Amino acid sequence: MTTHLDATTAADVSVSAEELGVPAARRRSAVLEESIRKDPGRFRVLTGDRPTGRLHLGHYFGTLHNRVRLQELGVETMVVIADYQVLTDRDVADRLTEHVADLVLDYLAIGIDPDRSTIFAHSAIPALNQLLVPFLSLISVAELNRNPTVKEEISQSRQSSVSGLMFTYPVHQAADILFCKANLVPVGQDQLPHLEVTRTIARRFNRRYGDGGATLFPVPEALLSAAPLLLGTDGAKMSKSRGNAITLAASADETARLIRGAKTDPGRHITYEPATRPEVSSLVLLAALCLGRDPHLVAQDIGGRGAAALKSLVTEAVNEYLAPVRLRRTQLAEDRGYVRQVLRDGNERANAIAETTLDEVRAAMSTAY
Ligand code: ATP
Ligand code: MG
Repeated sequence: MTTHLDATTAADVSVSAEELGVPAARRRSAVLEESIRKDPGRFRVLTGDRPTGRLHLGHYFGTLHNRVRLQELGVETMVVIADYQVLTDRDVADRLTEHVADLVLDYLAIGIDPDRSTIFAHSAIPALNQLLVPFLSLISVAELNRNPTVKEEISQSRQSSVSGLMFTYPVHQAADILFCKANLVPVGQDQLPHLEVTRTIARRFNRRYGDGGATLFPVPEALLSAAPLLLGTDGAKMSKSRGNAITLAASADETARLIRGAKTDPGRHITYEPATRPEVSSLVLLAALCLGRDPHLVAQDIGGRGAAALKSLVTEAVNEYLAPVRLRRTQLAEDRGYVRQVLRDGNERANAIAETTLDEVRAAMSTAY
């Protein structure tokens, strides 16, 4: 598809795409796509989500679609449910059991296959968490302080003070990625600064502890999708925590209601101009992604028929696109035992990988007693 999504420059998103390094990551992603096509066996993917609510269209077009595509290409895929990271911006992880089950259901419904991909929760993997200690020694406070995504999240946080976990969670994320030696991380653009932290830690670890040039950790790369920042119904980043999301599990009626209430602008003629008309362009983009069409052409078709016509088109496109996912999700939700088992099996596989890596780290750091 030829979509190109400058929706990233929306006016009310305070961190700019340039500041996050999006243009370079986009160019690099195109090169990576070529290598993946040629040799999928060279790659191992790690991605994940916080269990803070149901997954939404921003996740879907930002990363989930890529995860399934990579899995189908034969790339080994690890999916982390980042349960400890829920505590970065709130005191208590509410309804965690429910949110974790929702995430597993969403993954299975979109096509993550637990026989080929590993779904696990990082709190269940002690050896993964142990990597945090040496990794923290490899990055400076000044470097952590510069992270624009962390700054943005601090400004949105529900807490009045910044916890040590909020400040250091990109290092925890490095442990998520490196424990399984993933070299490819399909993410939305907010994650790019975090991936830089992981790359720095991998390089420094290899340099400091590598024996005769041996590299224990790969230096992983971000893979951006065609929609690295989808906006929500209020024109800000679609986000579980901001109440502006259309979830994958929403009913067709709820989807219609949410899209009807989405923010637009007074301009009657519909165009695709993400930099100047972020809200309208985001709706156009959503329809385009669901229909597999170019957003400029979608906008042209609506033209003078205005926002109401645009919203009906988006509603129809989203509901049709998600219908099979929603049906599968409803069927899977009837078997909670299976959902729990998928996670238990995934945790077991992830634990085996993490223990092997931790043994290697101990050997490299001379702490294998
Ligand atoms: P929360 O509000 O609780 O932080 P979130 O909606 O931001 O939730 P995360 O679990 O933090 O979701 O993000 C998981 C993954 O989905 C990350 O790779 C992130 O970049 C991607 N992602 C989240 N929201 C969007 C979006 N609106 N557009 C594109 N990618 C997104
Ligand atoms: Mg987030």
